[in-house]
Amino acid sequence: MLAGHFGVAGIVKAWRPALPMGVLLVASQVPDIVFLPLSLAGVERLEPAAPGAAGYGSLLITAEYSHALLSNVLMAALAGWLVHVLARGRWGADAGWVVAGTVFSHWLLDLLVHRPDIAVFPGNAGGLPLLGFGLWEHVLTAALVEGTLVVAGIALYTWRTLREHPSRVRAALYSAGIALLLAGSFIIDLTG
Ligand SMILES: [Zn+2]
Repeated sequence: MLAGHFGVAGIVKAWRPALPMGVLLVASQVPDIVFLPLSLAGVERLEPAAPGAAGYGSLLITAEYSHALLSNVLMAALAGWLVHVLARGRWGADAGWVVAGTVFSHWLLDLLVHRPDIAVFPGNAGGLPLLGFGLWEHVLTAALVEGTLVVAGIALYTWRTLREHPSRVRAALYSAGIALLLAGSFIIDLTG
């Protein structure tokens, strides 16, 4: 899931317009950004959930560091603390909490859609049962949930930007760019 996480960023931006959209887009994808170098190093990987499986929601992710519950609590806390220290003057007194929440929303959404492949502790220390409600097993429902986040993200972002931005032309351009990013990443998700 790429697009659903971006959708959350659009919704948060409409709620807290002082926060830069770029920061929210990155915050919504922190665990996947951490996953990239780890997968290149062969520590974490993606594979089909069943032999030959392809398309929407067909992947099993082995990401015992980037997607472990404790890692995500720590990454959210770190991101929130950085924003609180560096930018609370410009983005608002509770900006750190908002960014921390956006980072952690990635884990919550993944918990909903992933098959049980999410560790509690990094490296699956302690060998606790893996987590994941497996909504990807129900392709249509999962696509509906993600599609709703995408539509809400685009609509709320566009509404807020058109209302607040001093330049109508720029606001329309930004909104078109965000719509393109979210719709494009949703197509990537759907086609696997
Ligand atoms: Zn993820």
